[in-house]
Parts: sequence; C-alpha cells; structure tokens
Amino acid sequence: MKKLGIALLTIGVVTALVAGYFLFLDPAHSRNRTRFVVQFIRHPEEHADWKITALSRCGDAPFLFPTDGMVGYLWNDSFQAGHHHQGIDIFSGTDAGVTPVYAVYDGYLTRLADWKSSVIVRIPTDPLHPGTQIWTYYTHMADADGNSLIAVRFPAGSSEVFVPAGTFLGFMGNFSGTAGQPVGVHLHFSIVRDDGSGHFTNELQISNTLDPSPYLGLPLNANDSPTLPILCSSQP
Ligand SMILES: [Zn+2]
Repeated sequence: MKKLGIALLTIGVVTALVAGYFLFLDPAHSRNRTRFVVQFIRHPEEHADWKITALSRCGDAPFLFPTDGMVGYLWNDSFQAGHHHQGIDIFSGTDAGVTPVYAVYDGYLTRLADWKSSVIVRIPTDPLHPGTQIWTYYTHMADADGNSLIAVRFPAGSSEVFVPAGTFLGFMGNFSGTAGQPVGVHLHFSIVRDDGSGHFTNELQISNTLDPSPYLGLPLNANDSPTLPILCSSQP
C-alpha cells in the first residue's frame, strides 16, 4: 500500500511537473500535444501503441530512432511567446535511468568537461546534404539531482570518440540543468548546424538547428500540425 502510495505520488508529481512546465506556458499551437503527453505519462501502459521502438528506421530515412518512446513535442513547438523548440522530446513513460538512448547515425562523440547530461555527435557528411557537416545533440541524460546517466565509456571531457549508429549512449533522465527541479523523463534530440569551421553552433537557437523530419522519416515539424500520435506511416 505504501509502495503504491509512493508510486502514485511520483506519477502525480511528474504529471504536475510536465503539465506545469508545458501546459501553462504553451500557446494553442502545442496544447494538443501537451494533452497527449500528459495522458501518456499518466498511463504509459495504456498507450504502448503511441511509442516508436528504439533503433527502428522509418522507410529509407538515414537516422535510426534514438530511444523507445512517444514523440511528445516537435521541432518549432512554442511553449511561450518567442520560444521555439529546437528539437524533439521523446517520453519513455519510465523512471530516469531505465530507458537506453542510442546513436542515430555513425559519428564522433564529444562530451564537454562540464556536461552532466548531454553528448553531441559530429557527422562529417550530412546524409541529406553531402559535403556539409552536422551534429546530433542528446540531452537530459542525468537524474533529477544531476547525476549523470551517460554511458561510463563517455566520461566528461570525451572528445571525438567514434560511435557507430546504434551505440548505447546512456539512459533517458529528467535533469533540467538545475538540481532538484526535474523535468518529466524524456530525451531531447536535435540536429545542430556546424559553424563552417568544424565547431557546433549554439543548439539553443532554432536557427542553428535543422528540421529532423526528413532525417527520421517522421512528421516532426510543428508548423505542419501533424496528426497525433506521431508514428511511422511507411512501416509495413
Ligand atoms: Zn526538448
């Protein structure tokens, strides 16, 4: 009984956090997606068919899907005036530290010395724009207190470690960047432009990121108001 109480409390807290973080800040644009996210997080077992499987490939898309979960928020979703979401948020419906995250494509991993929850993987030649270098960014891989959930083989300060597509990078977490103020457990994944001289640009600016839709073969651009849940329509 006590365990159930704690479990329910945890679900309640997580739901409130997600709802609080997204629901009251977002314009109509992403409100429908918030409804889906809250429903999913409350009862993930009832909505298993909203999830996309880790390492699956939709059609002939170049990237593998990075984890197991439901695509909750899209590229260019807006949670508050002037804000534009630079990537996609994938919710597992599990606790932090449970759901593995994998590299979507061959590349070279960097984890800066002060990164607790993030890695960035350099892809020397963009499969959709050959000759252009791009980066893939994965974050929230730490627990609520900022304890890293990144694979031990990629300690802080790692640089240019080759990771083939499908390499285990770490576990999905809920670290917001501030200890004790967790977000709902999810992976934020984005595709970041190169600055032209071999360095990644600031991933917080949407203009520095690319619409991930063609890379994953999924409708991930909020501007297109895709039907929910987001699923691969070209899967047999
Ligand atoms: Zn995000």
